[in-house]
Parts: sequence; C-alpha cells; structure tokens
Amino acid sequence: MNIFEKIVAGEIPCNKVHENESYLAFHDISPKAPIHILAIPKKCYTSFQDVPPSVMAGLTSFIQEVAHKVGLDQSGYRIISNIGQDGGQEVPHLHFHILGGGRLSWGDFREHGAMHSHSPKEDDNKKSL
Ligand code: AMP
Repeated sequence: MNIFEKIVAGEIPCNKVHENESYLAFHDISPKAPIHILAIPKKCYTSFQDVPPSVMAGLTSFIQEVAHKVGLDQSGYRIISNIGQDGGQEVPHLHFHILGGGRLSWGDFREHGAMHSHSPKEDDNKKSL
C-alpha cells in the first residue's frame, strides 16, 4: 500500500479538510504555500495518466467544494498534478495539489544546468529557443 492508501484506510493520520464516499482532501505535510491541500480519489490510480474521465468528473466537483470550504474560490488558487518521473511525482497515487492563500509565483520549471532532454531531437529544439 502506498502512503495515501494507508491514509484512506485510517492506518496513518491526516489533517482532513473534506471527504465524501469517493474522495478525500487533507493538508500537505510539507506545505509549499500558505494553504496546501491534497485531493485524492480513495481508489488508487497511479497518476492522472491512468484515471478514467468519470473519476476526474467527480474529482473536479470535489476540488471545487474544497476550494469553497477554505475560501480559495474567492481569492483564487492553483491546482497541480505531478505525473511520473519528469513530472516529479513522489507518491504513486493520483493527487491534485491545491495551492493558495497568497499570490503564487510563476516561472521556468527547468532545472537550470541539470536538465537534459530524452532525445537528441528535443535537445536540438532546446538550442533553437
Ligand atoms: P508529489 O511529489 O506530487 O507526488 O506530491 C506528494 C506530496 O505528498 C508532497 O507534497 C508531500 O509533502 C505530501 N505528503 C507525503 N506524505 C504525506 C502525509 N503523510 N500527509 C500529507 N502529505 C504528505
């Protein structure tokens, strides 16, 4: 079981924000913004790449409810789902980061100096940027 499955099963605690039969939202243990909540389906899908549209439909409404509950629907917020290795995903259980509570910065996501592409063709594209 991954760590989010253990949270769903009640085996490890979480700081719960909102819940229904199919979805759970809880505060991230290592917040990257004044408000940083994770919204997950209780059933495990490895990532956004694996989730059926019907589950995403329910998750969309659920995230909107979470945002309303904590007041982010008025001030604005950001949702992010990291997917796989290059996406920086650490927990292999689909989750959306809900970030807000202050003006969020926006920038270049490349890791300067350390990034390399997967194919020579992509490197060519990068050189021409
Ligand atoms: P990701 O890198 O997109 O897979 O994000 C995983 C997130 O889960 C990180 O932001 C972690 O801080 C968060 N996290 C890991 N373990 C816990 C936990 N037990 N309770 C709450 N958040 C957690």
